[in-house]
Amino acid sequence: MPDLPLPPGSTLGILGGGQLGRMLSQAASRLGFDVVILDPQPDCPAARVSRAQITAPYDDPDALQALGRLCDVVTFEFENVPAASVETLAEAGALVAPGPTALAVAQDRVDEKTYLNAVGAPTVAFAAVTTLDDLTAAIERLGLPALLKTRREGYDGKGQVWIRDAADAAAAFDAIGRRPAVLEAAAVFRRELSVIAARGRDGAVAVYPLGENVHQNGVLKTTTAPAAVDPATQGRAEQIAAAVLDGLDYIGVMGIELFDMGEGELLVNEVAPRVHNTGHWTQDGCVCNQFEQHVRAVVGWPLGPSNAHARIEMTNLLGDEVKQWRTLAAEPNARLHLYGKHDARPGRKMAHVNRIL
Ligand code: AMP
Repeated sequence: MPDLPLPPGSTLGILGGGQLGRMLSQAASRLGFDVVILDPQPDCPAARVSRAQITAPYDDPDALQALGRLCDVVTFEFENVPAASVETLAEAGALVAPGPTALAVAQDRVDEKTYLNAVGAPTVAFAAVTTLDDLTAAIERLGLPALLKTRREGYDGKGQVWIRDAADAAAAFDAIGRRPAVLEAAAVFRRELSVIAARGRDGAVAVYPLGENVHQNGVLKTTTAPAAVDPATQGRAEQIAAAVLDGLDYIGVMGIELFDMGEGELLVNEVAPRVHNTGHWTQDGCVCNQFEQHVRAVVGWPLGPSNAHARIEMTNLLGDEVKQWRTLAAEPNARLHLYGKHDARPGRKMAHVNRIL
């Protein structure tokens, strides 16, 4: 295992070569690191700004061995990394961050909520569901409406179905493929917030100001940050973030999605053990953005500052919206971040723009 802190010239590996991997790679190269990407898609967005790409599936043992040997530290841009892949990387001699416990917790919605509640981070009431009988009992306990979600592999509102009438339970269970699930009580929230937090190898925690998020069709549309919240709400978010990160002995950046229930009450919806779309505002609102912060944490450097020097509205550009680049490029106070994706499929995240408010 390499000595820490890793000096410039060391090599960082990233599993996943989409826009998050690309922006991580750009931050790492600014600090003098070389980056190698593992992604099954040739010529992926991150590889085009990195030293090299290994083109292979994320569970290919030979590719993981090669990545582990090439890299001093390996990190991820997505959370559904197989546990066996992490083991192979570590066997090949690379440090891996975040660690396997954080990944395991984030990969299963029941384990995630159980962990969160155990460290004092409140969530909606929930029940694990494996059979239709479980679902019927859960509906009786939690009431309706309630949201049925697959335990694993759901994102951006996929693998989820609202149940409004007990008679619809079987159809809802069918709709998610009768897979192991969690039934969640409905949160009647005022708005959706999120907080980006980082923990370094020395145990230091840095928490960014809260962002306020608006979703469209289950996909993030805008984040405005720092959100207009009272200091007690920001303080509560910082307390929750520190408890969640400390409890996992976490290394790196985490995105924590929150429901603002009013009266200073925050519930955690879910956590992502990686840089997060709702943290893109930090690129133009903070001296040290979430991508640099993640790199600093995993290579064992001290964390950077997490305060905001500007208020930002971040807007995702999906599919054809990226064609607005010409207008946006001419707009003062608009900072355009394009991901270099060739194919603007409908709904695909192509770019974002940070407007300095
Ligand atoms: P998720 O995939 O868990 O992030 O959920 C996607 C979106 O569904 C969230 O951003 C919320 O808008 C909504 N949502 C998720 N869980 C709940 C819940 N328990 N109650 C109300 N709305 C929810």
